[in-house]
Parts: sequence; structure tokens; C-alpha cells
Amino acid sequence: MILDGKQVASEIRAELRERAEAFEREHGKKIGLAVVLAGDDPASQVYVRNKIRGCEEAGIRSFSYYLPADVSQGEANGLISSLAENDDIHGILVQLPLPSGLDGEELLKKIPPEKDVDGFCAENIGKLARQEEGTVACTPLGVMELLRRYNISPRGKRAVVVGRSNIVGRPMALLLLNADATVTVCHSRTENLKEECLRADILVAAIGKPKFITADMVKEGAVVIDVGMDRDENGKLCGDVDFDAVKRKASFITPVPGGIGPMTVAMLLSNTVAAAERSVR
Ligand code: NAP
Repeated sequence: MILDGKQVASEIRAELRERAEAFEREHGKKIGLAVVLAGDDPASQVYVRNKIRGCEEAGIRSFSYYLPADVSQGEANGLISSLAENDDIHGILVQLPLPSGLDGEELLKKIPPEKDVDGFCAENIGKLARQEEGTVACTPLGVMELLRRYNISPRGKRAVVVGRSNIVGRPMALLLLNADATVTVCHSRTENLKEECLRADILVAAIGKPKFITADMVKEGAVVIDVGMDRDENGKLCGDVDFDAVKRKASFITPVPGGIGPMTVAMLLSNTVAAAERSVR
């Protein structure tokens, strides 16, 4: 069965719109998300456009800031600091990757944890590790929400996450662990990757290599989640999983596009609404 992230994301946006409208009625202003894009990376431009469109559909006001690739650190830092102080803005998103001239760590540290709707800062990652309430990175959160809406419980299941990046693999593993799965994290130094993957009841691929997970690496009946956003040999968008072959073995599988991509945007909107609601508690 296909896990339809596009459809679920649209349901989530409709639910968020109701919360955003309730916020506006009670507090006399819209929920606001600032989206900052530096440089002219074409993929980032597409992601930012999708996020801004998602805001419109969820009743969130978006504020866009486009900085040139050669923007100075001081100017970029100044922008984030001013957004941090602006009461109309409840969430700040800095689209990654940043141009090579900018120190991303320094810039991201200017975002206060309560407006860090990407869940990347040390405080939010620490809260996730400690199972405290905080903001969780959008892509792994989108995976968990998609599983939840299809009534797929990770409890007691063997979950294998391939990839250990700070923005996907690591928080994914923590979320699955917090949901009582038995979690294995694989990466480029893993020996016997195929054997590790074959043990998975839930297999999450977050690698960045087109069609890397082949059918011989997947257990019959496994749930397969494809986080990858890659290009195949013809330049067509595809995932980290060889979808056509793997779907015959998987009980559930996410497509690319239409799987985790739209769920990621939906979770960004959800984190923004939650940040706004927390700001008036
Ligand atoms: P990343 O930072 O490059 O991390 C990739 C991970 O894959 C690393 O941990 C790496 O291991 C591991 N890896 C690489 N080659 C491997 C191999 N041969 N065998 C096993 N593991 C291997 O990438 P990322 O930011 O996590 O993104 C992963 C993918 O998800 C990309 O396709 C990206 O475009 C996509 N993505 C999608 C969304 C979305 O909204 N759908 C959001 C974010 C990312 P090492 O740590 O050992 O190097």
C-alpha cells in the first residue's frame, strides 16, 4: 500500500487553518512565519516556494527575505536578530544550504529556540533526546505523523534508519526510539548494510543516493519510508529507494514525490502554529 503523504499533508493543512483562524480571532493577528533564502540555489528556491504556498493554504502569514549569495555575515545576522525580536513572527526558517561565505552555525544560533520551527538548535535537539516538549525537525516528524495517520505503530518493532545526519537520520532514530521501536542507525561506515536492512520491520532511507535501497535489502512485508530527494540518470526526481521493485515486497511504502516531501512542509506549518500557540500561553 502506498502511504500518500500528499493527501495526508493536505488534511493537516486544513486542520492547521482552523487553529490559525482561532489564533487570529483570539489574539487579533495572524500567525507569522519568516522564510529566509540566501543565494540562488534552484532546489532551495523550489522548497521555499512550496513552503510559502503551504503557509497560504494553512492561513499562516509568510514573510519572505531573499538575500544575495554574497551577503555579509553581519547583514544576515542582523536580519535574523530583527526577526527574533518581531512579535508578528512566530517562526523563523533559514533555508539550507547557505552560500559558502556564510557561517551557518553562527546564523542559526541567532534564532531563539522558541522560534526555531526547524527544530535544529541544540536546545530543541536536547529536548528530543530527553523526551521533553520542544520543536522536532520537520522531516522526521513528518515520517512519524504519516505512520500515525496510517495506524502503523513503531512500538516493539525493529526500525532501521539509514543515514545519521543532524536534520534527518539522528532525530529520526530518536523519535522511533521514543515511540518504543528497537532502533538501529546505519551510515556509510556500516558493515553488512544489506543484512541490517533485511532485519527492519520499518526501514527509513535518508541517504541521498538515487534508488540505493534495492528489493534484496528489504524484508517481505516491511514498512519502507523514503526520505531521499534525488535525481535519477535522466534527471527525474526519485528517492533513495528503488520504488518499483521494493513496492512489491513492502507492506507500506512512501513514493517520491508525494511522500515525505509534502509531510515535511506540513510539519513546518504545524511547528509554526504550535510555536505561536506556545507564545501566548
Ligand atoms: P546527508 O547529510 O548527506 O546524510 C546522508 C547520510 O547517509 C549520512 O549519514 C551518510 O553516512 C549516509 N550514507 C551515505 N552513503 C551511504 C552508504 N553508501 N551507505 C550507508 N549510508 C550512507 O543527507 P540528509 O540531509 O540527511 O538527506 C538525505 C536525503 O534526504 C537526501 O536525498 C535529501 O535530499 C533528502 N531530504 C529530503 C527531505 C524532504 O523534505 N523529503 C528533507 C531533508 C532531506 P555518513 O554519516 O557516514 O557520511
